[in-house]
Amino acid sequence: MPEYIEKAENLSLPVVMLEGTVAFPSVKISFEVVDENSLAAAKAAADTNSFVLLVAAKEIGNTEAAPEDLYKIGTVAKIKQSLKTPDGTLRLIVEGYSRASILQYRQTDDYYVADAICKTVVLKDNGGVKGEALMREAISALEEVVHFLPAVSQDILLAAKGIYNVGLLADFIASNVLIKHDDKQMVLECFDPFTRLETLLMLLEKEAVILRCESDIQRQVRERLNKNQKDFYLREQIKVIQEELGDDADSEEKEYKSRIVKTKMPSEVKEKLLKENEKAAKMPFGSAEANVIRNHIDICLELPWEKKTNDRVDIAKAKKILDADHDGLEKVKERILEFLAVKQLAPDLKNQILCLVGPPGVGKTSIASSIAHAMNRKYVRVSLGGVRDEADIRGHRKTYVASMPGRIMTAMSRAGVNNPLILLDEIDKLTRDAHGDPSSALLEVLDAEQNKSFRDHFIEFPFDLSDCLFIATANSYEGIPRPLLDRMEVIELKIYTKREKLEIAKNHLIPKQMKRHGLTKRSFKITDDALVEIVDFYTREAGVRNLEREIASLCRKAAKALVETEKKSVTVTSKDVEKYLGVRKLLPERISDENEVGAVNGLAYTELGGDMLKIEVAILDGTGKIETTGSLGDVMQESAKIAVSLVRSLAAEYGIPTDFYKTKDIHIHAPQGAVPKDGPSAGVTMTTALVSALTGRPVRRDIAMTGEISLRGNVLAIGGLKEKTMAAYTAGVKKVLIPEANMRDLAEIDPLARENLVFVPCRKISDVLSEALLPTTETKARETLTAEKLPQISNEIHTNSITANLSTKGR
Ligand code: ADP
Repeated sequence: MPEYIEKAENLSLPVVMLEGTVAFPSVKISFEVVDENSLAAAKAAADTNSFVLLVAAKEIGNTEAAPEDLYKIGTVAKIKQSLKTPDGTLRLIVEGYSRASILQYRQTDDYYVADAICKTVVLKDNGGVKGEALMREAISALEEVVHFLPAVSQDILLAAKGIYNVGLLADFIASNVLIKHDDKQMVLECFDPFTRLETLLMLLEKEAVILRCESDIQRQVRERLNKNQKDFYLREQIKVIQEELGDDADSEEKEYKSRIVKTKMPSEVKEKLLKENEKAAKMPFGSAEANVIRNHIDICLELPWEKKTNDRVDIAKAKKILDADHDGLEKVKERILEFLAVKQLAPDLKNQILCLVGPPGVGKTSIASSIAHAMNRKYVRVSLGGVRDEADIRGHRKTYVASMPGRIMTAMSRAGVNNPLILLDEIDKLTRDAHGDPSSALLEVLDAEQNKSFRDHFIEFPFDLSDCLFIATANSYEGIPRPLLDRMEVIELKIYTKREKLEIAKNHLIPKQMKRHGLTKRSFKITDDALVEIVDFYTREAGVRNLEREIASLCRKAAKALVETEKKSVTVTSKDVEKYLGVRKLLPERISDENEVGAVNGLAYTELGGDMLKIEVAILDGTGKIETTGSLGDVMQESAKIAVSLVRSLAAEYGIPTDFYKTKDIHIHAPQGAVPKDGPSAGVTMTTALVSALTGRPVRRDIAMTGEISLRGNVLAIGGLKEKTMAAYTAGVKKVLIPEANMRDLAEIDPLARENLVFVPCRKISDVLSEALLPTTETKARETLTAEKLPQISNEIHTNSITANLSTKGR
């Protein structure tokens, strides 16, 4: 417990009121006397050289305070000096002496007198450790406040550090640092020095928090001001630089204005663009927003709002152009000429959209560009492969960063006219994701009712697309979105036969590539057999894209040979092909060297053309399981089951044990296991392989077959005969078994195949089996050609007959 020394005495003293401040013992202050009573009291005290009692008014601004408006605790003080100021008021310098607790006020003639107990409390040993700790804390709190308050001088801090008295330190700091007079009064009212210093500490902490907060706010305000000033300064600088360079904002605005006025476009678009230009001019020069607006104006100005080309309506001339560019493709050409004829008679008929469907490389893209040429239209290609966002077609709103118009409007801008031929390439490769369906946007592009005012999100103004001619391409029907398919007229482009490929190569691809590589008819020649070699062994495709690539490669090599050597000309024959293009890349499936049991040559139709597809069957002891391998599709698996059931019904007739389906496991396999296969047309092949395997009768190696099979043994019609027969011919087959119903299709097959193959129409499976199966004993005897000899002979026939056929062309 601290020990105190207390002194107290009763006094009656004249009262001087303090307004807005508080006096403390042992501290000098100077203040102005504000009221008449205090003035009189001060004068009386000065005259008698005695003490006064200084008491603060509770409210600031109260200069006429009555005793009840004053606090009840004040300071006994001595007047050290009194100064009369020029304006007639009195300024006193006083020094506090001790605290006094007022008991009552009394009114004399001129002033108030207070009866009070004057009391001083002092700590023994200055409060010991606690006193020391409190004082240190008070000093560090003071340091913080001084740091934030430049108005409080470092001298005060220094002076405070020199005081070693708890109560006095509290009074000194309170008097010099505290701002509010009621805070000061709070300290004054603490007679106990500990309580006093603790109260002061609390007030200093509060002050520090407020000051810290104030300082933060000030800093933020200062930073903001600085940034605004900096921006302003920089913008002004830019302006000056732009003016120096002669391209200030004003001239930019004028330039845009004149461009907008000059460009032909609908008046409402023009008005809106002019307004946008004005808006951009009001923005800070070079601001991001102004750039967005100007970019939009630029793109709108580039659009062909009213520019057109005139259609060619001379049908004969158009036909000439189409024929000159492409061999065959009669249906497409015919349709285009019809289109032109209708256009001539009914110019306003719109919405005729063609869709060219066919495998890659059959000339879809190139015929489209040739159509544009024939019609005298500009040609633009819009690639749709992989487009999956509606915004790809219709654009992003211009407010997005780096937004752009969609592909359609970009194509219009590239075309430079508003009636181009737009090729929508690979319309079957459209996909969709969460950002909307691109096909619905395309639907709007293609719809005659809606495309008069097509609205791109970026452009924002409606644009008339109704004069465009749209042609779409696709590899297959499957991927084309149904609503789009319904709106288009589909023209199918077929796989080229070998003969067609050779014609196209001779008439178009070779001359085109020769021209591109600077070769002339005199300096370069590819013989027909070389071409056949390339088609058969270097390309396997439905179209002629790879063929063209290989020809280009030949031309390059020939050009190099001509430049490097003394040679005047290069002729490429079939024997040279390997030298120029490397070893054969493809070896088409060939027939086997021997007649085999359980292996039959089937024929398949794929996107790349026809293929010989072997079917193998193995019969093993077992429990009647049927196994199929070789990536067979569902339909093909069903064919296998039908074949097994059918063979069960034929078992007795062919000498097969009738319980084979219980005692044997059957394994059906199609080699090249990784290539998926499907379709019903291997039905006869599987049945034949099964019967052969179960009877042990070999199958003729030079026969191939195709046909769907029914449970009752009927051979049903199939598709793709043209491609299948070509594959059979290439593989070295002599005889092809086909469904009777397909005989009429023979008219359409490649003449090469027709001339070199024997066709056997089959109605029942028995027709097939009697042609294909050999008796068990005759295996060797029936073989007429040796294994090595056959491929060579077949190759000779093959090249000779192509040459013969090609040379008859044109007669
Ligand atoms: P697609 O668009 O069907 O994939 P392309 O139009 O790209 O095919 O055709 C590939 C190449 O083959 C082009 O150089 C094209 O000129 C040529 N071509 C295709 N078919 C013919 C043809 N019937 N007559 C002339 N050239 C053709």
